[in-house]
Amino acid sequence: MHHTHSKGSRKSMKTIGVLALQGAFLEHTNHLKKCLAENDYGVKIEIRTVKTPEDLTQCDALIIPGGESTSMSLIAQKTGLYPFLYEFVHNSEKVVWGTCAGLIFLSAQLENENALVKTLGVLKVDVRRNAFGRQAQSFTQICDFSNFIPDCDDFPATFIRAPVIEKILDPIAVKTLYELPMNGKSVAVAAMQNHNILVTSFHPELAENDIRFHDWFIRQFVSN
Ligand code: GLN
Repeated sequence: MHHTHSKGSRKSMKTIGVLALQGAFLEHTNHLKKCLAENDYGVKIEIRTVKTPEDLTQCDALIIPGGESTSMSLIAQKTGLYPFLYEFVHNSEKVVWGTCAGLIFLSAQLENENALVKTLGVLKVDVRRNAFGRQAQSFTQICDFSNFIPDCDDFPATFIRAPVIEKILDPIAVKTLYELPMNGKSVAVAAMQNHNILVTSFHPELAENDIRFHDWFIRQFVSN
């Protein structure tokens, strides 16, 4: 029996949870399943949906999907999951990936409508919700991620009423992975990493038949 030694954990099996209170959790689950069907990560990986504290305790990693951060936060509080989520995302032995609303939910500070979302406060950034406004609530852009995902220079990134990271509150902890060019003059951070925490303001789980982002996530954060 081969035991994989990795940061903070000696388990030969890893469990990736997908928070399933609200939003695009099924799409994440499907992308992860496809990754596992098509690749050998050298460690047994299990995927489970997370709705209760019991589900969460099984997990080594957690994906917080896109959806509506106000609802997600509210449901988490109403079901009593919130304090367990809080503990999980603040535990440096755990891996967390937030997409879109998940990014908002993880953030330390919200630029607008901050009374509507009780965040988990672990990602040291200031975020503006629905930053692209009504005219451009949703768009897909081909992005070059090859500086962090080998050979991935044409990923179709879908942004849906996406947030924008306005300020990085702790530049030492936070590493920018991708900046989206905006109107040719400014840029918006669309992917970043804060140690064991990954956030994307777009939706890799909506890239049809394209599992490159999820595959990279598993290799980089879960199986290594
Ligand atoms: N606009 C949503 C929010 O504020 C996020 C949208 C999304 O996750 N696609 O939570």
